[in-house]
Amino acid sequence: MPGMEFDTPLAEAWIRAIAASVEEEQGRLTELDSAIGDGDHGSNLQRGFAAVLPALDGLEPAGPGAVLTRTGTTLISKVGGASGPLYGKAFRAVGAALPGPGGGSVDAAALGEALAAGLRAVRDLGKAEPGDKTIVDAWTPALAAYRDAVAGGAGLPEAAAAAAEGAERGALGTVPLQARKGRASYLGPRSVGHQDPGATSTALVFRALAEAASRAG
Ligand code: ADP
Ligand code: MG
Repeated sequence: MPGMEFDTPLAEAWIRAIAASVEEEQGRLTELDSAIGDGDHGSNLQRGFAAVLPALDGLEPAGPGAVLTRTGTTLISKVGGASGPLYGKAFRAVGAALPGPGGGSVDAAALGEALAAGLRAVRDLGKAEPGDKTIVDAWTPALAAYRDAVAGGAGLPEAAAAAAEGAERGALGTVPLQARKGRASYLGPRSVGHQDPGATSTALVFRALAEAASRAG
């Protein structure tokens, strides 16, 4: 039996799940950003993903790549701050690695390559290394866990669940780190002891993928 594929409905379900999660968690994201930033991470992402939903409604014919590309473009246009361009470029890169307008679907391994393209985009733009207390610290272990799961024979829902756990571990792992990129880096050693808001929202992004995939299964 072939495994679950990443197709247009699953791409849309993923983005809707992120939007719902960001809506629900925006207070926590903003609280984290108040401690080591300027307190707008939750509202930035809430505003961005609220704008993505109507943008997807107007997308026809879609294809999973087109859904993610449109998501990224909308985030870039609606979200100021570091996270808008970073997530925007990331989703655009994921989308560019997937079948575009006209449909199609990819298997779990190909989705992993697209997620890797997303991480490369974040790193190209933001120049953060693992350990700098950023989005990279959640996306990197998420991708590694996803790939390990696929290499071990897991299907898409199981690999996505592994990625979510990897991202959540990575986000928790930012607590003892000193920020070396973004606004939190201005605090120097005072950024230690706080969980990074962007790594936390990346954990929401991967948890949303796991939830959407498990519902689709
Ligand atoms: P701003 O810092 O402009 O207010 P946000 O509050 O929306 O933007 O986002 C802050 C988050 O962005 C940080 O918690 C961090 O995870 C992420 N971030 C900042 N700079 C970078 C970077 N250069 N590379 C990767 N992620 C970064
Ligand atoms: Mg901020």
